[in-house]
Amino acid sequence: MHDFTAARCERLERQVKELAAFSDSAVGVTRLTFSERYVDALKSLTALATSLGCQVHSDEAGNFHVTSAAAQHLGWTVAVGSHIDSVPMGGAYDGVAGVLCGFDILQSYPELPITVVIFAEEEGASFAGGLVGSRFASGKLTSVDLEQLLDGNGRSFAEGARWTREAVNVPQLVSTGTPHWRQYLEIHIEQGRVLQDGSARLGVVTDIVGLIQAELIFFGRADHAGTTPMTARSDAGVTAAQFIVDLEELVRQTGEKAVGTVGVLEFGPGAANVVPGRARLSLDLRDPDESNLRSLAERVKLHGQALAARRNQQFTYREELFSAPVPLDLSVVDGLGEAASQQGIQTQRMASGAGHDAMMMAGLVPAGMLFVPCLNGVSHSPEEWADVQDLVLAADTVAMYLHNAFDLTQ
Ligand SMILES: [Zn+2]
Repeated sequence: MHDFTAARCERLERQVKELAAFSDSAVGVTRLTFSERYVDALKSLTALATSLGCQVHSDEAGNFHVTSAAAQHLGWTVAVGSHIDSVPMGGAYDGVAGVLCGFDILQSYPELPITVVIFAEEEGASFAGGLVGSRFASGKLTSVDLEQLLDGNGRSFAEGARWTREAVNVPQLVSTGTPHWRQYLEIHIEQGRVLQDGSARLGVVTDIVGLIQAELIFFGRADHAGTTPMTARSDAGVTAAQFIVDLEELVRQTGEKAVGTVGVLEFGPGAANVVPGRARLSLDLRDPDESNLRSLAERVKLHGQALAARRNQQFTYREELFSAPVPLDLSVVDGLGEAASQQGIQTQRMASGAGHDAMMMAGLVPAGMLFVPCLNGVSHSPEEWADVQDLVLAADTVAMYLHNAFDLTQ
């Protein structure tokens, strides 16, 4: 079972390089959904799939479904998915790692009934929001939504999907394909440094964290920076700075799984010789527990109000986005951990701080995720790197899990 051959690593290494070459930028990987380079990458994967005896279909959302001969024979399947679209100047492993692990399973474990699913537009680089393909597959987007969703050039998502399917030349899947799925599994690079800094080789994802994003504004009074004494100011910039410093402590008090970030800070009117009359901040809070997340947001808001009141300033808090935490299936989580330990692979249970296609599929079928470490946690960057030996371990873990969890004779 533990087929840890150098040949598999070499093959994966070569496939990662081949896919990375389908890029619109010379540095890093720029492969936007439904672009010509995106089609080239799909053509290459479709040719490989066909040579392995797999069926390849594309659905209305441009998701590609690569079904193993074993799944065709049995009439049911386990989806092993991820994505191959990238952010501009992204890396060679985000999404691709999971898709190529799926292909490694097709090649190394031909007895397994799996469908490698390549979801369209996970990143949201061309169509706002991202996770478009998996939202369609999970029933959260309809065909009508796909016709109305436009990119920056006015091309609809549905049109892009049609063009891609015809260019790659694969038959259309009339449904979403998901009724045949018994489970959904995804292998992905961690995009953080927890695994690298710890002793575990793979991460078993327990939850995808919840997210609150808000816009905060402190209103003071703009004054001349030279003529207004320090005692006579209402400086919104100073209040914002105090808020950012205090946020760090508020989040730490919530627990080790909570994170909070101010990524954008903007002063108005915004001149070197004017006391800031206005300070606008972005807020990004995440926690795997919904009530923790909600209460953290409430405390952060109250603290902003208190800081503003102390300086006789006004404060507004506007929630822009709420995404509930998504727990992954406990029996899949346990099963993946067990399959890894059977092979002597140490794992660590962890929450995913980033969104993934798995969070959409978790509402539909039992879903699980494995994280592989990536160098220094760097992602969405040309510097992104993962060890193909870890990809092989993840593929072996999924294969062992499927052997344990399913009767493959019927
Ligand atoms: Zn990804």
